[in-house]
Amino acid sequence: MPGLFYVDTHCHLEQEEFDQDRDLVVMKAKELGIAIITSGIEESLWEKACSIAESYPNVYASIGLDPTQFGICDKALEWIESNSNRIISIGETGLDHYLVRNHEERDRQKSCFEMMIGLADSLKVPIQVHSRSAGKKALEALSENSARDVHLHAFDGKASLARTASRDLGYYFSIPTSVVRSPQKRRLVKAIHIERLLMETDSPLLGAEKGVRNVPANIPIALREVASILGREEEEIRKVVLENTLRLYTNIQLNS
Ligand SMILES: [Zn+2]
Repeated sequence: MPGLFYVDTHCHLEQEEFDQDRDLVVMKAKELGIAIITSGIEESLWEKACSIAESYPNVYASIGLDPTQFGICDKALEWIESNSNRIISIGETGLDHYLVRNHEERDRQKSCFEMMIGLADSLKVPIQVHSRSAGKKALEALSENSARDVHLHAFDGKASLARTASRDLGYYFSIPTSVVRSPQKRRLVKAIHIERLLMETDSPLLGAEKGVRNVPANIPIALREVASILGREEEEIRKVVLENTLRLYTNIQLNS
């Protein structure tokens, strides 16, 4: 890598969409100076995500659990704990009120999230949070449980909530590539405290063009858009975002 310029703080390289050309996808990111945090959130993908991270110097693993799979929460906690030396963070984990609508199930989902927060705290690693249609509830659970080193990914809650959480609680928020087409994400960019801003692709999802496979090499597209929304120089925002990322993810190597 020509040095570290960007970090794709959240994506899913272990998913089958990358089975055919993963080497190429990682190499293209590396050429642009992009380090990658890949998030394994299904039992069948935990080992794969860690092995991928171990195969490339610029890839790091985050292990969590899809919030709809709270039924295997204990298993996930156990796996993460016994593989903690292989991961850079826990997640994604969190609440999904779009897919989980029943009250009793939402309660179980919340307890799983709380246990993940507890584990991240005891392992002293950041936590990557999913909060689909549950932005307010997820933020409440995080503060009730005194979560530290919080990273909310693709937050779809109100911009005013992100404003308060980034300023008063110091939570980080990553903006996905879909910022180029999403009015909600554009509002988010303006609301988040600039020192809490991160970038992500959520590849293979949330690309600049809906339905087209997203890749970590698209991070500069998202960053350019964020700089233009903020009316700032791209290079200035790139540096600020990189500094923010390295403040939260202290294990990322500058020469990765
Ligand atoms: Zn994701």
